[in-house]
Amino acid sequence: MRATVINVGAELLSGQTHNRHLETLAEGLMSKDITIHKAHIVGDHKPDIKQALETVDTELIILSGGLGPTEDDVTKEAVAEHFRLELVKDHASLTRIQNYFARAKRTMSETNLKQAYFPQGATIIDNPVGTAPGALFTVENRHVLLLPGPPAELEPMFKEALEHLKTLHREKRYEAGYRLVGIGESDLEVTLRDVYRKHPGVDIAPYADIGEIRVLFVSKNQTLMEKALDDFNKRYREYIVGPHDQTLESRVVNTLLHQEKTISFVESCTGGMLTSRLINVPDASHVFSESHVLYSNASKIKQLGVNQVIMERFGAVSDQCVYELAYQLAQRTRASITMSVSGIAGPTGGTPDKPVGTVYFGLHHEGKTHTYHKVFSGDRNAVRQKATSYGLFLILRALMHEDDC
Ligand code: ATP
Ligand code: MG
Repeated sequence: MRATVINVGAELLSGQTHNRHLETLAEGLMSKDITIHKAHIVGDHKPDIKQALETVDTELIILSGGLGPTEDDVTKEAVAEHFRLELVKDHASLTRIQNYFARAKRTMSETNLKQAYFPQGATIIDNPVGTAPGALFTVENRHVLLLPGPPAELEPMFKEALEHLKTLHREKRYEAGYRLVGIGESDLEVTLRDVYRKHPGVDIAPYADIGEIRVLFVSKNQTLMEKALDDFNKRYREYIVGPHDQTLESRVVNTLLHQEKTISFVESCTGGMLTSRLINVPDASHVFSESHVLYSNASKIKQLGVNQVIMERFGAVSDQCVYELAYQLAQRTRASITMSVSGIAGPTGGTPDKPVGTVYFGLHHEGKTHTYHKVFSGDRNAVRQKATSYGLFLILRALMHEDDC
């Protein structure tokens, strides 16, 4: 099946808001073997939305944004006018919206009423976060999906809508994928061409986040799919950290739980990001009790007893310093695995020897301390995020005894 996407919002055209929905929709649709044929971005203006609808030649139309209560929220009305549909009150939606206001102890305004009106027979997609329900309905042989604009609302609602779309589109699909760390997007893209060529019956698509890449596989044929997965696994084994739908931090926590181990961090340039990622996982308390954020040289000396001579001779961003930090942390916390991170996130502070993006990692595990270093590209935020993912990657490899990277 093919889809047309219409993202509604003046803020998308002015560049104030980055259009995140196209990515979210494309990735979810691909897993159901639905491809986006065309995408439009239009302002909150009824004639523009209707004009975009005029050109649609796909079985599925997805519109995002403009389902709010205010006057500039006109998406549903534009769709109704285009298809000449009457909007009728959906009592269950009205009750949900009333309950939302009652729970928030706010008075519901008259304008919110319009959010409970939909074409007759539409499947309503409840909004778990805000007031605007979404809807899926079929008219003139087209399936129309309406979703609200805020990403925190659209994302869970789109997941639910995908389940409904699956039933409209019965052919069985197999889907799987991997999450990779330690390989750049362009390096992967170049080498992937060979994999695409060898597996024409399988759709393979990489999705890059900062420091991590998910690669999704979709096919109608299970055998072809398994062959492609197997081939990919052989080629990229050293970068694979787990299935695409499991986060790196959950893989780390689950491996620690399984091995009955604990972990502790001492973070400099990542400023607590490693710890925060780990604590994202619900069972983190079983494997984690403390970390240090030691940003200045003086704090590294004072809190973990790093030798002043090391600081003076090699600096805080060095093998010697991260070695000491990871080792000393292990002695003090008795955690089964400890990691230290120290780097130059930029934009200043780089030298010819240690350019901006240089990050050193110390890792103490099973009585041995190893150090690693890497130069990450990007701005301050990208370097810190990449260092965080890479740190978790090193931990996972050490736990799996594949730490020769
Ligand atoms: P609301 O009830 O919040 O008005 P809505 O369905 O009417 O919801 P919009 O008014 O279009 O949605 O958008 C609300 C907010 O959602 C926007 O200010 C914007 O921050 C965000 N948003 C909308 N569309 C997108 C998009 N394509 N990508 C990222 N953010 C978006
Ligand atoms: Mg709005």
